[in-house]
Amino acid sequence: MKQQGTLYIVATPIGNLEDITLRAVRVLKEVGLIAAEDTRHTRKLLNEYGIVTPLTSLYDHNEPKKTPFLIAKLRNGTDIAYVSDAGTPGISDPGYILINRAIENDITVTPVPGPSAVVAALSASGLPMDGFSFWGFLPARKGKRRHFLETLREEKKTMVFYESPQRTIETLLDIVDTLGDRRAVVARELSKLYEEILRGTVSELITMLKDRTVKGEVTLVVAGKEKGDEEFSIESIIARFEALEHKSSCSTKDIITIIADDAGISRKEVYRHVLKHLKTRKK
Ligand code: SAM
Repeated sequence: MKQQGTLYIVATPIGNLEDITLRAVRVLKEVGLIAAEDTRHTRKLLNEYGIVTPLTSLYDHNEPKKTPFLIAKLRNGTDIAYVSDAGTPGISDPGYILINRAIENDITVTPVPGPSAVVAALSASGLPMDGFSFWGFLPARKGKRRHFLETLREEKKTMVFYESPQRTIETLLDIVDTLGDRRAVVARELSKLYEEILRGTVSELITMLKDRTVKGEVTLVVAGKEKGDEEFSIESIIARFEALEHKSSCSTKDIITIIADDAGISRKEVYRHVLKHLKTRKK
């Protein structure tokens, strides 16, 4: 039986053409076909490295229709590389459907690792990166964006977002309103001529950018929730107390310690509010 081809998921530079691996160049030369998000864009990269492999397009809107053609080629023994315009395919980019159809067809899917803006921005951010969460692009509409950010209020890990330059300031304003004035980083035009990495609190970043037109490609990195990040209201202390009282077997003293630690306030303060609440509850 004829051997099936391999689907290579090849990461390409996010700006600087030197950021391509030796293996990526070899694989792109050796495969029978390169599927690219934008063939004109990828042609420039291929020309730079003297790669003459035939190209075909696979982008968001034709991915469902085009995938069966590529799967048939793979099944007939052609090795195919998939590249998006920049960075790692599938990361806020097309590729998901193709990869899954290939897996369903028992075709070997092999990553050829390389650049991705999420990791590049995080690596130079100075924010904790032992764990992080990546959220791709935030919703473009303000209401939806704020609602989405609200869902991340309790996220403790550093968060990374892709954002358009036009919305960067608006999004920073939404972040300060919904998550508070956390530490954050605006990573712009990474690996390119005008690379800029701004670090500060969200409000400091807004001040730095407010009189400028933000241009180029932007990745935002925002610190996760730290102890004491949020002012706890009396209502939220009481609600938390009641929830823990019902759900846990902890003593009142232990519950007070848990709430105080989480809120970053003194046990004495929590105790005062809880005591007042318990007195009114008895009446
Ligand atoms: N697949 C790509 C990756 O692995 O990074 C991401 C593709 S996504 C369509 C493009 C977004 O990534 C941009 O809008 C921007 O938010 C971010 N991005 C890409 N290149 C960047 C760069 N050089 N500097 C900062 N952010 C970048």
